[in-house]
Amino acid sequence: MADKSFNAFEMAQKQFDKVADLIGLDQATRNLLRNPLREYHFSIPVRMDDGSVKVFRGFRVQHNDARGPAKGGIRFHPQETVDTVRALAMWMTWKTAVADLPLGGGKGGVICDPHNLSSREQEQISRGWVRQVYKNVGPVADVPAPDVMTNAQHMLWMLDEFETLTGGHFPGFITGKPVGMGGSLGRTEATGYGLIFTVREAMKHLNMKIEDCVASVQGFGNVAQYAIEKFTQLGGKVICVSSWDQNDQTSYAFRRMDGIDLQELRGITDRFGGIDKEKAQQLGYEVLPGDQWIEQDVDVLLPCALENQITADNVNRISDRVKLVAEGANGPTTPEADTVLEKRGVFVIPDFLANAGGVTCSYFEQVQSNMNFYWPKDEVLEKLDHKMTSAFWSVTNLAEKRKLYMRDAAYIIAIERVAQACKDRGWV
Ligand code: NAD
Repeated sequence: MADKSFNAFEMAQKQFDKVADLIGLDQATRNLLRNPLREYHFSIPVRMDDGSVKVFRGFRVQHNDARGPAKGGIRFHPQETVDTVRALAMWMTWKTAVADLPLGGGKGGVICDPHNLSSREQEQISRGWVRQVYKNVGPVADVPAPDVMTNAQHMLWMLDEFETLTGGHFPGFITGKPVGMGGSLGRTEATGYGLIFTVREAMKHLNMKIEDCVASVQGFGNVAQYAIEKFTQLGGKVICVSSWDQNDQTSYAFRRMDGIDLQELRGITDRFGGIDKEKAQQLGYEVLPGDQWIEQDVDVLLPCALENQITADNVNRISDRVKLVAEGANGPTTPEADTVLEKRGVFVIPDFLANAGGVTCSYFEQVQSNMNFYWPKDEVLEKLDHKMTSAFWSVTNLAEKRKLYMRDAAYIIAIERVAQACKDRGWV
């Protein structure tokens, strides 16, 4: 986001235009879907701990809600821009549509840096955000969630403010709440497990046997750890993981050819997902500097750290053995690298399909909250498996039928579903 020349919204619109051309979308629907349906920009005055008043800028963008209430996180970030929020809201529309959830796409944000704010100040920002938009969000309109630098505590403050203003209990207003306070069991595991449910199905499609497969993973945070857990439970082996080192300001890969031990590595990982390299060495891991996770001799790559990781510069270091790339992170592959993967015939499960387990479980949380009746974890995970599996096959079947790259097929399904909902409602 520091790069001023990069505009995420322009990129999201370009991606949309490409697919709109591919499917010959009519002009009115294009005009409708290229821009958000609604957006709110507002000021949040906060009395700071030192007695002064500071005014923070807040946003909520509802890109589209033809298929159901808008859904998407709220970010607290010092470099937040409304264009970033617009892009993310649009991507949420495609993500909920490809997962076939009865939801639309939204995103919110506040320009602020939580590192320099006390807990009380953050509470005031959270409550102030709700005071500005509570009439335009809610369980039947727009359902927020945690995102960058916001967590379950922020969600609870926001819920409390919403319920104070509206005079009732509406836990379905917001997701990402703690279990016991309206949260769903299984949410912690959902994105990583969901990723591997799509990997399992892709292996059936590609005639690969998971017991014979070896994977390398970028990242060791929430998504990566639960992906590794499920992948190994299903019989696969992970030989390499990587993480960011705060002290050295660089990344390292941790390799053990006979398979990494998830519990052992968890024991030497900080709360930001950083693995202690000295302790890893003592445990018999090879510690490799930089992005060497990408060049391992493996069948499967799981980028689960952050965006812009598989690029024109390193894509040719990917081994010929790699048949499958499943994008746990958002936007890990640049368009240039994507073209190379497509040409090489690598099967890519695109991010907004592969990591849709998180929003799917948030949807389950919302359903449970609206009913005020909570499901056991097994039931949540079984429903998650069902949703991810059917989303995977609807994209794969279309890709097969029309000889499309998986990313294009996923976009086509998502955009066609949203366009159809707009048409059916008589909007276009
Ligand atoms: P996290 O903060 O828990 O973990 C991030 C991990 O990436 C950490 O282990 C960190 O050390 C590592 N990392 C950071 N920079 C790195 C680098 N240059 N090289 C190697 N490792 C690096 O985050 P998370 O929740 O696991 O999310 C990971 C990605 O998945 C993000 O792109 C996020 O947007 C996406 N995602 C997350 C969820 C979710 O439910 N958590 C849902 C959908 C998408």
